[in-house]
Order: sequence, then structure tokens, then C-alpha cells
Amino acid sequence: MDILEAYKYCPICGKHGLKKVSAGKMQCEACGYGIYLNPTIGAVGVIMDKAGRLLVVRRSKDPAQGTLHLPGGFVEVGETLEQAIVREVKEELNIEVNVEEYLFSFPDLYEYKGIERYPLDFFFKCSIKDMSSIDVDLTESSEYKFLSPQEIKIEDFGLPSIRECLRRYFKK
Ligand SMILES: [Zn+2]
Repeated sequence: MDILEAYKYCPICGKHGLKKVSAGKMQCEACGYGIYLNPTIGAVGVIMDKAGRLLVVRRSKDPAQGTLHLPGGFVEVGETLEQAIVREVKEELNIEVNVEEYLFSFPDLYEYKGIERYPLDFFFKCSIKDMSSIDVDLTESSEYKFLSPQEIKIEDFGLPSIRECLRRYFKK
């Protein structure tokens, strides 16, 4: 079930008349209000240390709890992608990064609490400005570590967009 099908009532008029009119749109039969299925925007860091190792975290919650992941998260309203990465990495790991270069984007798909989610992840190459106070936020991740390119196993990463990113990035 996608999020549109989970809506029971129109958020504008409160009537119980939402109908799916296309794959990505629900419309209220009473007032005409439309609700669209849009991707949630994610900003993800491919963060390398000076030795060329990749910074990874292990997810402490679903989706894909227990698998490896890259630091990042959802963009908040009013933020740029670059600001979102800097904020998320600071929140998750208490380190400062410089966003160096946009790499590519990949759509993701997973189920959370019975609802299908469709993030669109934008990946950026980042360097570490200051990691002297690195400290993992345990509500997000159970650990962090640095992996050399040879140590990276794609199957250890749980979410499809992250796997696609690593395949593409380390093929270069
Ligand atoms: Zn309505």
C-alpha cells in the first residue's frame, strides 16, 4: 500500500471521498482537492577520510535495521541538499564535513509501518573538516566505521539506493 491509499479522509473538507485517479494522484470527490505521490528527498554523503576510506554507519532502526548505511537523511523544508547533509552528519556523528561534489541520484523503495515509501536520494562526495569529536547518535546508528574500497561488500548495505551508489561510485 502506498501513502495515498492510506489516506481515508480529505485533509481540506474532511469528507470520506478520496479516489485514486492515477498512479500518483488521489482526488477528493467532494471538493476536488488533489493529493500527489511525491518522492521524499534524501541527501546522502559519500564521505572519505584522508586514507581514502569510506565512512559507514550501521542502522539501529528500520527500515533495514542492522545493515550498513551511509550518513545522511531527509531534507527539511527550506534547506538545500548540501545544508541537509552537513546537518544530518553533524546530528548522526558530531563531525563537520565539506560537501565537495554532486555525484548522482537514485530512487529508493522500502516499506515502513506497512506503507511503501519512495525516497529520492541525492549523493554527494564529502570530505571531513573536523572529526575530533566524532560520536555516534545511538538512536540512528549502532556504530560507525571506515572501510577501504576492498573491504566494502555491497550486500552488507540494506537499502537499494545505497547499493546502487556504491556500485556506481567504486566502479569509477
Ligand atoms: Zn475534499
